[in-house]
Amino acid sequence: MRELDIAKLVRPSVLRLRAYEAKEIPCTVKLDANESPYALGRDLFRGLRGLETNRYPDPEARKLKKIIGKRFGVSPERILQGNGSDELIYYLVSTFGGPVLYPFPTFSMYGITSQALGEKAIAVPLDREFDIDLEKTGKAIKKERPKIIFLSSPNNPTGNCFSSEKILKIIGMSKGIVAVDEAYQPFSSERGFLPLLKDYKNLVILRTLSKIGLAALRLGFLIADPGIIKEVNKVRLPFNVNSLSQAIAVEALKDRAAFSATIKTIVSERERLLKEMERRDGIEPFRSEANFILFRVRDPGRVYERLLKGGVLVKNLNEMVRGCLRVTVGTPEENTIFLKRMKEALHEKGDS
Ligand code: PMP
Repeated sequence: MRELDIAKLVRPSVLRLRAYEAKEIPCTVKLDANESPYALGRDLFRGLRGLETNRYPDPEARKLKKIIGKRFGVSPERILQGNGSDELIYYLVSTFGGPVLYPFPTFSMYGITSQALGEKAIAVPLDREFDIDLEKTGKAIKKERPKIIFLSSPNNPTGNCFSSEKILKIIGMSKGIVAVDEAYQPFSSERGFLPLLKDYKNLVILRTLSKIGLAALRLGFLIADPGIIKEVNKVRLPFNVNSLSQAIAVEALKDRAAFSATIKTIVSERERLLKEMERRDGIEPFRSEANFILFRVRDPGRVYERLLKGGVLVKNLNEMVRGCLRVTVGTPEENTIFLKRMKEALHEKGDS
């Protein structure tokens, strides 16, 4: 067979890219991926009865958009369905192009997607409180004129919501699209930006079902002005959300209470975890409006390994936020195990 120099064929921007890491690491308590620890209890597979596996899915996901529209109080023409909100981030960059601006640290897919599509990515550091640095961001907007600004609020991995006033100023300042990624909004005490959609044409909101118990389905939603939806819909792959996910989600969304009960438990467990972590020496947790907590320790690599040895998997973010790990809020039992393993990890010799 003839040799092939693949590297010579690949676009330079892709060649430089590092793939998003989602390794399967064996553990007994999985607290690394901001999933819900609760699968939805009801028999959601009821929704699959009569499903015709020989047919393509509804390309417009009409039933799903109708029920999502009701839930969010927006009309279906303002909604675009995605195979997770990851896909919608990809579609936004495909539709509008770059430069793409976002604060740092934040969700890595804004940068990865921009690079994959060969667009310029501009990362503006957050301030000391992990809030938007308005001065630096304003300067970058003036200089670079970004086509899209991504703001994850609550922000992954820092957990805080950005100041609403600052977000509003950025929406006002920007001549491009401002995408407020509300993946963690269900856990936040703030109202979110859905009620403001009618006031700002360039505002786009991203939501997902992944954090509230349906990560397996891969379902995200882009909510925006119908004119924006129309354009982004042109780059959408024809049957991007499969029939099984559509049917199960419709069944799940019929019962509002099913989500609110688990969200309430997760929020109260987050507060318990925070309190316990704040009391401990050697650990600095940051306040969170999401379903995870970022925390700083002296030796993150060692603490990560010690936790894993004890069966608890968290996310090591040391490369992104110095000294930090991120723990997803689990069930009360899982959280108690995490706290116990944390105590052991911190009190071992060499990390006191
Ligand atoms: N946005 C943010 C801020 C996230 O943290 C994540 C998940 N890690 C996503 C979007 C992607 O979610 P989905 O599962 O809907 O693709």
